[in-house]
Amino acid sequence: MNKEALETIKQKAIQEHIPIIMDETLETIKKYMKDKKVNRILEIGTAVGYSGICFTELLTETGKIDTIERETERVLEAKQNIKKAEVEKMIDIYEGDAVEILPTLKDKYDVIFIDAAKGKYPFFLKEALRMLNKNGIIFADNILYKGYVMSDYNKHKQRTAVRNLREYIKKVTENPNLETEILEVGDGLAISRLK
Ligand code: SAH
Ligand code: MG
Repeated sequence: MNKEALETIKQKAIQEHIPIIMDETLETIKKYMKDKKVNRILEIGTAVGYSGICFTELLTETGKIDTIERETERVLEAKQNIKKAEVEKMIDIYEGDAVEILPTLKDKYDVIFIDAAKGKYPFFLKEALRMLNKNGIIFADNILYKGYVMSDYNKHKQRTAVRNLREYIKKVTENPNLETEILEVGDGLAISRLK
């Protein structure tokens, strides 16, 4: 991977207010994965490709990432960025709504990163569980949504998002097949391992 290109991609995304993964969230994921490399990663929410490019570090030599993004402009920029970072052989972008694309995917994955529409997290979880390998891990970003999820916050336009994020947390913590941690790093990160 071209680290210099990655830094430029990151700075541009920050300048343009694209909500890329926070440094401490990325570090937490890398630490959690330790030196264990995986073959297949699925990402829901590509944006301009920043996190996807970073995750190539977790891949084996033949490993691959599938990533889904619905905004055409972002898909185009992500494709350019992935090329600039010299990881185009390792990442496939699916353009479209993840709600429609996920049910068509047939592969199994070792790591699934959920980082898109918060109101859809319970649906993303259901699909992720269908495609997760044994010992596979689901990381869900923004799970505490600026603290709203753990407070009595129940107003405004974020209400549906908050309700669905709470439902996601309930589902992963109550599922006996999952081992889940909810961490306060960044905007909140849920880590669930399939036993
Ligand atoms: N993972 C990226 C940031 C993703 S931001 C990174 O850390 O670099 C979330 C992205 O998800 C946005 O670009 C948004 O357009 C996309 N998105 C939101 N809901 C979606 C959906 N239902 N299907 C596909 N993409 C979606
Ligand atoms: Mg995020």
